[in-house]
Parts: sequence; structure tokens; C-alpha cells
Amino acid sequence: MISQHDDGEEALIRPVKRVPVLWLAIFAVFLVCVSIVGFNLWQLKHAKDHEFEQARVATSNLSKSLAQQAEDTFDEADVILADLVERLQNDGLGPAQIDRLHHLLVQHVVETEQLQGLFFYDRTGAWRLTSFATKPENANNADREYFQYHQQNDNLGPHIGKAIRSRTTNDWVIPVSRRLNDTHGQFDGVVLATLNMKYFDRFFEGFNIDRQGAIFLAMTDGTLLARRPFTDDVIGASIAKGQVFTEYLSKSTSGTAMVTSIVDKVTRLYGYRQLGKYPLVVAAAISEESLFDEWRQNALKSVVVIVIAVLANILFGVLLVRQIRFGLQAEAKMRVAQDSLEKLALQDSLTGLSNRRHFERVLNLEFRRSGRKKTTLSLIMLDIDFFKSFNDAYGHYAGDHCIAAVADAIRSCLNRAGDLAVRYGGEEMAIFLPDNDTQGAYALAEKIRLAILARHIPHVDNPAGVVTVSLGCYSCVPSEYNTIEALIKRADSALYAAKKAGRNQTMTFQLDV
Ligand code: GH3
Ligand code: MG
Ligand code: MG
Repeated sequence: MISQHDDGEEALIRPVKRVPVLWLAIFAVFLVCVSIVGFNLWQLKHAKDHEFEQARVATSNLSKSLAQQAEDTFDEADVILADLVERLQNDGLGPAQIDRLHHLLVQHVVETEQLQGLFFYDRTGAWRLTSFATKPENANNADREYFQYHQQNDNLGPHIGKAIRSRTTNDWVIPVSRRLNDTHGQFDGVVLATLNMKYFDRFFEGFNIDRQGAIFLAMTDGTLLARRPFTDDVIGASIAKGQVFTEYLSKSTSGTAMVTSIVDKVTRLYGYRQLGKYPLVVAAAISEESLFDEWRQNALKSVVVIVIAVLANILFGVLLVRQIRFGLQAEAKMRVAQDSLEKLALQDSLTGLSNRRHFERVLNLEFRRSGRKKTTLSLIMLDIDFFKSFNDAYGHYAGDHCIAAVADAIRSCLNRAGDLAVRYGGEEMAIFLPDNDTQGAYALAEKIRLAILARHIPHVDNPAGVVTVSLGCYSCVPSEYNTIEALIKRADSALYAAKKAGRNQTMTFQLDV
């Protein structure tokens, strides 16, 4: 086969290395799918991180304002206690003071929302003063934790005790107390303010958290003082084993953490903070469920869009692949048709050997190549002997068969890829041998001659009795003098010489021929 090169040079066609379009299309569709999924997953992850970061800031702020309000609440109670201590120490508790102080305490409780009651117990724990109208007879609070604490500690600062049920109203209260000393610095009793737990419930209500969220106020040892949602059994319980206390508070007095509650096993994002002034910890938490609620809804929508986009892309891919396949099949069919057309155009129909047109092209090409490389090329010209009389004796049809048989014999002798057998004209054939010298050409010519002889094609008008051929060879290195025309002419001359010398033989061109 021949193809036209860019520089105009004709070259034998080598199979073109085809870009695997089909695989490229499949790969492209796959890449688009991966990109769609990858990009969206990355975006979802990014949105989730963003949501989490925002929630972290929100819970942190929430805990900060909770801490501030809690501190204010205790401050208000403590200021009253400090004032009461001062009055008792300076004024004592004579009958005149009892009445006045009682009224003062009542006024404080009325004015201060979080206060459930105010009390003074003497060094034995006996009730001496209360904001309540009546005082239980022989009541003694020496058994209370806060009383024993002050009895044993000379610390004059405020003390916050575990949440307890009030002996007066049975309400849940948080006791805040201070120690009272006599003039010798000895323990002289306890002043107590009880903070109403309901106040904290209302106070917590003011904060915006989700249904599963939580807010708590606890002592630094983990004793729970107040909690939203409120349940009776958790108040006074210890949450010291909770992760906020075991892991986070020990590292930092404030922060945020994703923690599973030991109270109700709900996982939440906690913003926690330890108060600077009191041994108290506050925390506000958003449940993990509501934290990613909006994100989850958006993620669901995104997943639907991703699935639709991927399916559409796959559908497009399938159609594209089918189209490409169809195109490739059509192209392959066309190529086969074109190949056979090209072959036909370069072939002789009777013998199947190359025709003159092909011969001339190859010769042109090989002459240039051989000229560059300085290699020897050879040409054998062959003519059937007494063929006119063969036709006369056996008919034109048998003559055609004979030509085809001779061509077949020639073909059977060629075994080098570059060798080219041509029907040069009528019953004359040429064998072009690139990269072959005189000896090689002669040897091949003889081989062909003997192969034809061996076929024993009867020919009555040939002295040999069978069909014979005459051959002429010429070999040269292409040069200014050794042109294509010279090659053909000299091989032809050698053939003529072989005819002249009696036929059925091979002659090599000699300059003196
Ligand atoms: P010579 O030994 O000198 O070659 O004698 P020849 O009779 O073969 O002479 P020449 O080569 O000049 O003969 C050519 C003859 O070949 C002429 C024609 O009748 C016959 N011929 C040419 N082409 C064909 C063909 O395609 N088919 C047939 N049947 N005969 C052909
Ligand atoms: Mg002849
Ligand atoms: Mg002839």
C-alpha cells in the first residue's frame, strides 16, 4: 500500500496507532462523575465544618452569658449575707434587732427574685432569725452540710452547698452561706440564703437551645445544682464522671466539646465555663441531632442532585459510547472497502501481481532510499518463450491460464518482504529486488526459471516441450547514470540477450552486451 507523506514522498503505509477514543470517552465520563461526586462531597464536608464552627461559637457565647448571669445571681445573695454578718457582729441580736432584722430579711426576699429565704443559725444550729413568718419550734440545722462546713472552716467567704429540699417549703433550694465569728474569732453561727431552684429554671428558659439541648449549673466537684431539662432525680447527683469534668475542665476553665451526657446519653456540643468567683460550672449544649439538622436537609438535597447529575452523565456517556462505537464500526468498514479498492488499483487482476503503476511508485521510492543509503538494488525481467505460438496452439484463454501459472511460480520463489513481482505487460513480468546484488538476483532468476520448468506446462511449439521463460538481470547502486530508466533498459537488454542466446535461460547485463 502507498500513502502520500507531508513532504510529498510516498511511503508504504504502516498501521496508524489509533487513539483509543472509546476508552478516552469512558474515562472522560468517569472523570466527570468522580468530579461531581468529589466536589459535592467536599462542599458538604466544608458546610458541615462551617456549621460546627458556628455552633461552637454560639455555645461558647451562651456559656459566657450564663456564667455572667449565674455570678450575678450568687453575688446578689452574697451581698445580702455579707451585710447581715456585719449587722449581727456589730449590733448583736437583742429583741429590738430581731424584729428589725426580720423585716429587713423579708424585704430582701421580696425584692430579690432568686431568694427563697434568709436565715441565721447560732453556734448550736438553732434557728435565730428567718425571713419566713413563722419559725419551727426547736428547729435545729446543725446537721446540714453548710453548717458543719462553717463550723469546721474558719473561711469567712461565701459557701455554696449541694441543692437540698427546703425544710420550710419542701422546694428545691441551693444554699449560699457565710460563717459568723464572735469577737474572739470563734465560730458564732451561720447566715444562710436559699436560692430557689425554680428561679434557675426560669433563668434557663431565657436561653435559646433546641428541644434536645441542655443547660446545667454544677459545683466544681461535679454536684449538679440545676439543670434544664429538669428532673428531680438528677439534682444533687454527681456528674463528676462526665467528660466535661474528667477531660475538659481539668485542661481549661472554659471551652467547647462534643460530649455524650452521662445523665441522658444524648450527644451534644457543650460550651462550658467555670466561674471565676464561685466554685461553679455552667454549661450550655446543643444536641448533635439539631446541630446538623439543617445541614442534613441540605445534604439530602445535594445527594439527590448528585445522583441526578451522575445518572444524566452516565446516560450521556452510554449514548456517547454507542455513537463512538457506531462511528468506529462504520470507519472500519470504510477502511476495509478503501483497502480493497487501493489493492485493486495497484494489482493486476489476472495474476494478482502488482501492476505497472505500483511498480513505478515503489521503484521511485526505493531508488531514493537506496540512493541515500548507497545500497544495491536489482531488477529481473522475464518473458515467456514462444508465447505467440502457445496462444495459437492452445487458445487465448489457455494463454491467460499459463500467464497466471507463471506468476504463481514467481510468487512461490519470493520470500523477502521487500521483493516485488510485477506484471510488466502481456506475458512479460518484472521482479524488483531492493537490497540485492547481481549474484542474489541471478540466483533468484534461476530459481524462478526452474520453478516454471518444474510446472511442466505443455507447449508443443517450444523445443523443450514445456513452457519456459527467459530472464535478464541487472543490479546497480542508484546514481546519476544508474537511473530507473537505465535499470529497466539494461535488465531488458539482458532479457533480449537471453532470448538471443536460445531462450530458457538467465542472462546478467554486461556493459559490452
Ligand atoms: P519470444 O520467445 O521471442 O518471446 O516469442 P513470443 O512469441 O513470446 O513473442 P512475444 O513475446 O513478442 O509475444 C507476445 C505475445 O503474447 C503476443 C500476444 O499474442 C501474447 N499475449 C500478450 N498478452 C497476452 C495476454 O494477456 N493473454 C494472452 N493469452 N496472450 C497474450
Ligand atoms: Mg515472449
Ligand atoms: Mg513478449
